[in-house]
Amino acid sequence: MSGDPFQVRFHSKLGVVIYDPLTQMSIAKEQVRLFKITSMSMTTFRRDIVNKDLGVGEPDVMQESANAVDAYRVARQGKVKPYCISCRRHFGSVDFSICTECTAVRCTCGTCGCVARKRKAA
Ligand SMILES: [Zn+2]
Ligand SMILES: [Zn+2]
Repeated sequence: MSGDPFQVRFHSKLGVVIYDPLTQMSIAKEQVRLFKITSMSMTTFRRDIVNKDLGVGEPDVMQESANAVDAYRVARQGKVKPYCISCRRHFGSVDFSICTECTAVRCTCGTCGCVARKRKAA
């Protein structure tokens, strides 16, 4: 399970979260952007508030979220371009989510792999 460029952590209130160094763009230094497994989306938090409840999850909890972490890993690797094809914002600087249909990154403007697929078909 090692070798990932991101860290999977457990937060007592948020559940399993992913800290990815690549997604910390355009936020203040007292902020941190975390990917929440429960919502499959990025959210920006106050670093000091989130850090005090951050720890290592129980193995069964981490196991339960393994599929979601896989989905994040795949979406991350599947990003041919690191920015949105529609609004051109870098994914590292927006609170993106992962589309459950195309399993690709979905920008805050609503653009995901589904849109790219439709464009190709048209
Ligand atoms: Zn966008
Ligand atoms: Zn989609």
